Amino acid sequence: MRITAALTETKGAPFTLAPLDLDDPRPGEVVVKMVSSGVCHTDLIVRDQWYPVPLPAVLGHEGAGVVAAVGGGVTSVGVGDHVVLTFNSCGGCRMCIQGRPAYCDQFFACNFAGSRPDGSTPLHRETGDVHGVFFGQSAFANYALATERNVVKVDPGAPLELLGPLGCGIQTGAGGVLNSLKPPAGSSIAVFGAGSVGLSAVMAAVVAGCTTIVAVDLNDQRLELAKEVGATHVINGAEGDTVALLRDLTSGLGVDYTLETTAVPAVLRQAVDALNQGGTCGLIGAAALGTEVALDMSSLLFGRSVRGIVEGDSVPHLFIPKLVDLYQQGRFPFGKLIKSYAFDDINQAVEDSEKGTTLKPVLTFA
Ligand SMILES: [Zn+2]
Ligand SMILES: [Zn+2]
Repeated sequence: MRITAALTETKGAPFTLAPLDLDDPRPGEVVVKMVSSGVCHTDLIVRDQWYPVPLPAVLGHEGAGVVAAVGGGVTSVGVGDHVVLTFNSCGGCRMCIQGRPAYCDQFFACNFAGSRPDGSTPLHRETGDVHGVFFGQSAFANYALATERNVVKVDPGAPLELLGPLGCGIQTGAGGVLNSLKPPAGSSIAVFGAGSVGLSAVMAAVVAGCTTIVAVDLNDQRLELAKEVGATHVINGAEGDTVALLRDLTSGLGVDYTLETTAVPAVLRQAVDALNQGGTCGLIGAAALGTEVALDMSSLLFGRSVRGIVEGDSVPHLFIPKLVDLYQQGRFPFGKLIKSYAFDDINQAVEDSEKGTTLKPVLTFA
């Protein structure tokens, strides 16, 4: 079928809208008519080729929409179902079998190869093939081809125009708290970076029952929003010694849990230094390959730990419907993070995201 997609032609290039041909779904595949598609940091670092996804390609990996067609053997969704698209995984490796698809042994091949496992791409134009299947979807298009494995059916009463980012950024922040760190009620947590991932983590900390929830950022507007969504305290990292301030807030002991979402090495260092003995730091921020950080070994020795977290340790078919339920109950107001843009305005959405004036741009399709 003929679709309209936003192409990334070369490294760092602006997105250009173009007509493409999308293959019919093969067995196990699902075509989704897009309603919304979030713009995530990972789209932009792939556009800039921090990760070697082959170009030209169609990026986008936070799609939500309505199933338009299914390939043979697809049983869990049918035409007309409302779905959120999420990251893909192989389903057969040791990590997938353990229920940890975010650490799939084939994660790179499933999400960043730009093609199906057999090397084919479902996207074509007159001059040749275009790489697709980005995160098993390539959602910067009015129709996307996914697989049954990365399509999550959701309550048709939930607003599809908001749901796209649940598939990546928002499940990453919320899952980092609810699935990875699992802070008990009454515990303390500090979230470094008050972007859409960090603020999703703040909202999740409220759901978890944390009683000290600190947001750290350099932008006062974001810190105001952090308070609005449940931060009990905020710290502007440019205005003093963040680690000392966090100790002051926690009887001099340090914080039970920290979550690093900025990918800045000096900030990860602060997030570890701010922990109390036995505390855990979750690392979510995606730095360029090869980025290193220095940590104090004797401090780590005292029961402190650092663990990396991909996609909030989510099992999407279980976790995304939970986030939708929490949203519908008013307990996870992630709509406050979102600003909608018409698909045609994708470059404006990206510019506003990079300037920091929009936390989470979401493209909507006519
Ligand atoms: Zn796997
Ligand atoms: Zn993402």
